Amino acid sequence: MTTFDREHCIRLDQQDPLRPLRDQFALPEGVTYLDGNSLGARPRAAAARAAQVVAEEWGEGLIRSWNTAGWFELPQRLGNKLAPLVGAGQDEVVVTDTTSINLFKVLAAALRVQQTRDPARKVIVSEASNFPTDLYIAQGLADLLQQGYSLRLVNSPAEIDAAVGADTAVLMLTHVNYKTGEMLDMASLTELAHARGALTVWDLCHSAGAVPVNLKAAGADYAIGCTYKYLNGGPGSPAFVWVAPALRDAFWQPLSGWWGHAAPFAMDPQYRPVEGVRRFLCGTQPVTSLAMVECGLDIFAQTNMQVLRAKSLLLTDLFIELVEARCGHHPLTLVTPREHARRGSQVSLEHPDGYALVQALIERGVIGDYREPRIARFGFTPLYTSFAEVWDAVEILRDVLDSGAYRDARFQTRGQVT
Ligand SMILES: *Cc1c(COP(=O)(O)O)cnc(C)c1O
Repeated sequence: MTTFDREHCIRLDQQDPLRPLRDQFALPEGVTYLDGNSLGARPRAAAARAAQVVAEEWGEGLIRSWNTAGWFELPQRLGNKLAPLVGAGQDEVVVTDTTSINLFKVLAAALRVQQTRDPARKVIVSEASNFPTDLYIAQGLADLLQQGYSLRLVNSPAEIDAAVGADTAVLMLTHVNYKTGEMLDMASLTELAHARGALTVWDLCHSAGAVPVNLKAAGADYAIGCTYKYLNGGPGSPAFVWVAPALRDAFWQPLSGWWGHAAPFAMDPQYRPVEGVRRFLCGTQPVTSLAMVECGLDIFAQTNMQVLRAKSLLLTDLFIELVEARCGHHPLTLVTPREHARRGSQVSLEHPDGYALVQALIERGVIGDYREPRIARFGFTPLYTSFAEVWDAVEILRDVLDSGAYRDARFQTRGQVT
């Protein structure tokens, strides 16, 4: 049984070194937001920044702003601000395009590298439980290449060892699973891949800003991830891409647009990629959307991932403990690993009526989300989630379960986005 009460949670909030940062987010009254793993909350600064980009930089500066407002440099400037969060160096990251598109670019580049090292390597190994777009992109690329490339999917991380062999070109993994919240050991899996001659592509969508990541220490080869989840960049904000410097200038990436050219305004008919990670850019960037990413990154600059991780683990531990103590008589199954080393910053609970349960919670102001099959996901964002909110969320969960309120027919209707 838990020894905690709400007073204890309030004391934890009072001792929380991150507490002042919550004020930098605009969170609606009456909402406990536990979905920052899907769409991060809005930094307060974003509204003023958006107004500035639209009214001044676009409205007044017009075309001049590509130079005078730093628009052209934005992908790399943001990449430099993001780099410390994932253990990358300066001028090694760009913020651009979407995660799906960036995955296409780095996966193609990795296959191209392998083609020169050992053309017999034609298999991309991944997990069947990986985020579907990652698998779709790999399937699309294999289909496009038409040279016997294929995808080999394992059903659990324990099967990765046996699946990576002499035929494997790339081990393509998501570091923290979107559904279960399970975190993989990036360093040891990268070592395993390298020992067998494979390259690694890491998807950091549920890691960047959620857990400490050290791409360089892990010896990773390629990484991509989004900025609209834990990094609070805004809906559909551009994603990031990192490539190990040793591999970066080996080849073109296939979306060889003019923004990756060595001299884009030379209007040269021949593609000639720029040196460095900017060659992973394709075309003209979505400036207004990119500009919002900076507001989220500027908040991270005021703390570090170790402090955030410590609070994240306290939050997820507290949530698990309270759910088990107060809702233990209901058919809820903890899907997320208990071991800290294997847990991201979310907790997933399986319930036979998971979809309706999440809808009933949302109606009561507790926003989590639902993923097939039967999984209720709760993301904990140490920048703005408080311990008292965890207490209140579990109390509402208990009430919704005890009262059976989630069984109401109105909670069965599905929207286009779950
Ligand atoms: C959220 C997420 C994506 C999303 O990709 P988009 O191109 O932004 O739609 C991809 N992969 C993983 C693992 C994710 O969690």
